[in-house]
Amino acid sequence: MNRYTSRRRKQQLQLRRRRRRITLLIFCCVVLIATAAGIVHIQSGKKDETHVTTSPNTSQAVISKKYKQTSVSLIAVGDNLIHNTLLKDAYTGSDTYDFTPFYENIKPYVEAADIAIVNQESPLGTGEPSAYPSFNTPQACGDALIDAGFDVISHANNHAMDAGSSAVYDTMDFWDSQSDSGVIRVGIARDAEDRAKVRYLERNGIKIGFLAYTYGLNGYSLPDDNPDLVSLIDKEKIAAEMAIVKEQCDAVVVLMHWGEEYQTTENSNQNELAEFLTEQGATLIIGGHPHVCQPCEWVESENGNRAFCIYSTGNFISAQNKTNTMVEAMLQVTLTRQADGSVIVENPGVMPLVCYFNSNWRGYRVIPMDDYTESMASSHALAGRCQMNPSHLRSVAEEIFGEYLIDKTIPVTYSKDDPSTSNIVS
Ligand SMILES: [Zn+2]
Repeated sequence: MNRYTSRRRKQQLQLRRRRRRITLLIFCCVVLIATAAGIVHIQSGKKDETHVTTSPNTSQAVISKKYKQTSVSLIAVGDNLIHNTLLKDAYTGSDTYDFTPFYENIKPYVEAADIAIVNQESPLGTGEPSAYPSFNTPQACGDALIDAGFDVISHANNHAMDAGSSAVYDTMDFWDSQSDSGVIRVGIARDAEDRAKVRYLERNGIKIGFLAYTYGLNGYSLPDDNPDLVSLIDKEKIAAEMAIVKEQCDAVVVLMHWGEEYQTTENSNQNELAEFLTEQGATLIIGGHPHVCQPCEWVESENGNRAFCIYSTGNFISAQNKTNTMVEAMLQVTLTRQADGSVIVENPGVMPLVCYFNSNWRGYRVIPMDDYTESMASSHALAGRCQMNPSHLRSVAEEIFGEYLIDKTIPVTYSKDDPSTSNIVS
């Protein structure tokens, strides 16, 4: 190495050191300016509407999440109970059935809602149709429920096992084959793995999860090879399943088959369970089974959670023979996601319905109580047996639901998305 090259190397080294010092100085300046201005944006990967921003005026980061405020309309009706005279009414000959006329008058209210829920009280087995006391209903009834606009079908009820395990599998085959229509089944499962799948509907960016449980199975027991075939009320399981649904969804709707038949008030067991579900994080609790309506109320748990609960929506369609069994409820609520991300129930109301059938026990229809006339009352099959006049039926509904009773109302359709966005997550 000669003198010339040695000097040149020295110069190069000095130049590099100087450049490094300048770069460091520029970097420090940038950091100082950025910190002073407080403009540091971190995008959350979990939800696209979420932005986390550090406060410009404090050194400690104050995190504020902002969610887009959106709403979803949800309606729920009671037990779809296909008695013998309903089977005969729907029969069109040659082993075929058409149940769609039953729901014609109620369809505008069902299909307008972003989410519509019904309890299908009997299995849709492929075997011989049967009615009380052990029901099996043709799958054409499922077609009619889809046609009416229902999205969530619960089979967690005391009649689920009426036609044996095979009819429950037939029922699951039927609903699963209809998944293109966006309908989901809840409360019955092929096995533990199927039961563990989170069943939810997504509307307007809000994910709403569904769970359903029944108090019992009318003396039938679950098969040894599939204890998950029908979901029974079991607090430990409910708590575990709700935790998973809550983790993956923005709101949890729990459908409960409970209470005492023909009692128009809930019992202490329902109160206790409603509080338990609220404590676990339920957003909305929808009850059924008593064949008559029972009140609705806000439930608050000790941990500060709040849920809306209707203890019984009553029957949806049936051939029962008492006044109170013909007075039915369509719960209507709005689920709104607030700026903090939580989903709350807004404007809960009950639109009263009447189950009508003529003196020949035919012409079954579910109709809004507002459309139920004096002439329908006099031609109702139950006219000679019990009070069926419109004013009496209204007084029954008023006594049960009080301030929550609403006039007939077509729900707002908030979701303009493809209604078939249903999902099942393993
Ligand atoms: Zn029941």
